[in-house]
Amino acid sequence: MAAYDYDLVTIGAGSGGVRASRLTAQTGARVAVVENSRVGGTCVIRGCIPKKLLAYAAHFQDDFEDAFWFGWEKAQPAFDWSRLIANKDREIDRLNGIYIKLLRDSGVTIVEGTARLVDPHTVEVDGRRLTAKHILIAAGAWPEIPTVPWIERAITSNEAFDLKTQPKRVVIVGGGYIAVEFAGIFRGLGSAVSLVIRADSPLRGFDEDIRAGLADEMTKRGIAIKAKSQVRSIEAATQGVTVRLDTGETIAADQILYATGRKPRTQGLGLEAAGIKLDPVGAVVVDSYSRTAVESIYAIGDVTNRLNLTPVALAEGMAFVATVFGGRPTAFDYANVPTAVFSHPQISCVGLTEAQAKASHGAIDVYVARFKPLKHTLSCRDELTLMKLIVDRATDRVLGCHMMGMDAAEIVQGLAVAITAGATKRDFDRTIGIHPTAAEEFVTMRTKRPDPVAPTPAAPAKV
Ligand code: NDP
Repeated sequence: MAAYDYDLVTIGAGSGGVRASRLTAQTGARVAVVENSRVGGTCVIRGCIPKKLLAYAAHFQDDFEDAFWFGWEKAQPAFDWSRLIANKDREIDRLNGIYIKLLRDSGVTIVEGTARLVDPHTVEVDGRRLTAKHILIAAGAWPEIPTVPWIERAITSNEAFDLKTQPKRVVIVGGGYIAVEFAGIFRGLGSAVSLVIRADSPLRGFDEDIRAGLADEMTKRGIAIKAKSQVRSIEAATQGVTVRLDTGETIAADQILYATGRKPRTQGLGLEAAGIKLDPVGAVVVDSYSRTAVESIYAIGDVTNRLNLTPVALAEGMAFVATVFGGRPTAFDYANVPTAVFSHPQISCVGLTEAQAKASHGAIDVYVARFKPLKHTLSCRDELTLMKLIVDRATDRVLGCHMMGMDAAEIVQGLAVAITAGATKRDFDRTIGIHPTAAEEFVTMRTKRPDPVAPTPAAPAKV
């Protein structure tokens, strides 16, 4: 008789948990996954997928405007928020069903409820105990909002997807992925948007040229960026709220959305009592094989706060299965993970920023192109595309590739293959472009940006 009920119990049926559970079950192991919300997790239910659908909706505004210059009569069709949300919900229900079916077809038992660790081999779910040889924590992360007077009047991205009506005036707090994506969505759908950021420009950690370029484009689209500002209070108004900033400015809004980061969902899981170490933000501490301080327990995805992206959680899940159930210890390599922000316009990148490359490699060459894409020569849209390559001067290897503009994510995904394979600038140069595209610019950049001139030392003072 088996010593445990299962070979694996996974806590959390998000992208990482589902992938790891399914692949483990396919090895013939007995697997259960515990979920207290909907199967699919953040990405499918309240993240990447609904966000991208809303971003598509927002882009139609550009298409209607641009069409005139291509000969179409001017049209301003009415927009129906509730139809968009209902259609989005239908698609999310469909995907949720597919995820449940994938798990069941692989032989994974789905246990509904909230899990709590009892010991290194036991999970309790609403009073029921499940024992397992291995436990995988894939509980994800949850929006984190600061304490501000009347913060309960604010919503997070979780609620933004289910609003009954479209807020016509929105204040968004934060300058990360979620904040800039929702700013583009609401602005594209016709709302007045203010973005309150505590830094100079949005998207800390991204390449500085891209950050500045995106701030310019967002401003051109009418998004009011309130830089170096923080919310002091959210006061009730006759209609909506009045948001008071520490600069003294007040903004009237129908809705205030906080996108100030996400916190690993480790509270209440009984992790510390079971001997699992958490870092200061509450993330599960793991080694390069995703193993926690307890030998039988592993953790993957946002709950470990390594690189919080769906494809990374999937890759960590696959590495876990190879390590524990495949006899092939596999550590995921975090270098060169491409990413995109579905802002308006999109940005996408792979590899190092200019500042990172300078710090790690010293001498680098930088190639930058800023241009109006062909489509906008006719549409008259005042929007620039920005492309940037960062090259190691010593080896000629391309260290970083960054883009802001139409289809940036689709373009950079292909370039990520080249960067992962170690492509040099010479490889880019000998690649033939596809004409006429924006992407061809990446293989035709020939002029290095001149090195910044070192400051001249001050002349010695005359005595
Ligand atoms: P991020 O960590 O990307 O950004 C948080 C933002 O909130 C930063 O601008 C930060 O400012 C600001 N902030 C934090 N605390 C405060 C505060 N107390 N007051 C004011 N501003 C504050 O978080 P997100 O919530 O946008 O996204 C969470 C994660 O989800 C991301 O890290 C990303 O990995 C993932 N994600 C990925 C997407 C994609 O792949 N397209 C889309 C959406 C999310 P500062 O920079 O000054 O610290």
